[in-house]
Amino acid sequence: MSTLPPCPKCNSEYTYEDGQMLACPECGHEWSATESAAAAGEGDKVIKDSVGNTLQDGDTVTVIKDLKVKGSSLVVKVGTKVKNIRLVDGDHDIDCKIDGIGAMKLKSEFVRKV
Ligand SMILES: [Zn+2]
Repeated sequence: MSTLPPCPKCNSEYTYEDGQMLACPECGHEWSATESAAAAGEGDKVIKDSVGNTLQDGDTVTVIKDLKVKGSSLVVKVGTKVKNIRLVDGDHDIDCKIDGIGAMKLKSEFVRKV
């Protein structure tokens, strides 16, 4: 029993997994399994920034408002560039390291993809 989605190009049901990709033996189309899972509304949830860009691990974002760092007097200033973000589950869905502050978590709604 296969739960793989049919080929988006020719609708063939004989799709197979090829590493991270799905492939169709009939028309040769290859596509990303995670993309089709996201399109179907299952699997990893899509995390979007303040303007609706989809965020991915490794992206660089800027902070769009001053954010207080919990448990300290530090503030992440608006415009701060945050490199190499990592998406996580939870209320704060971005894990990152900020120069001068260290590891912290951000909310995707307060950042914008660069
Ligand atoms: Zn196909």
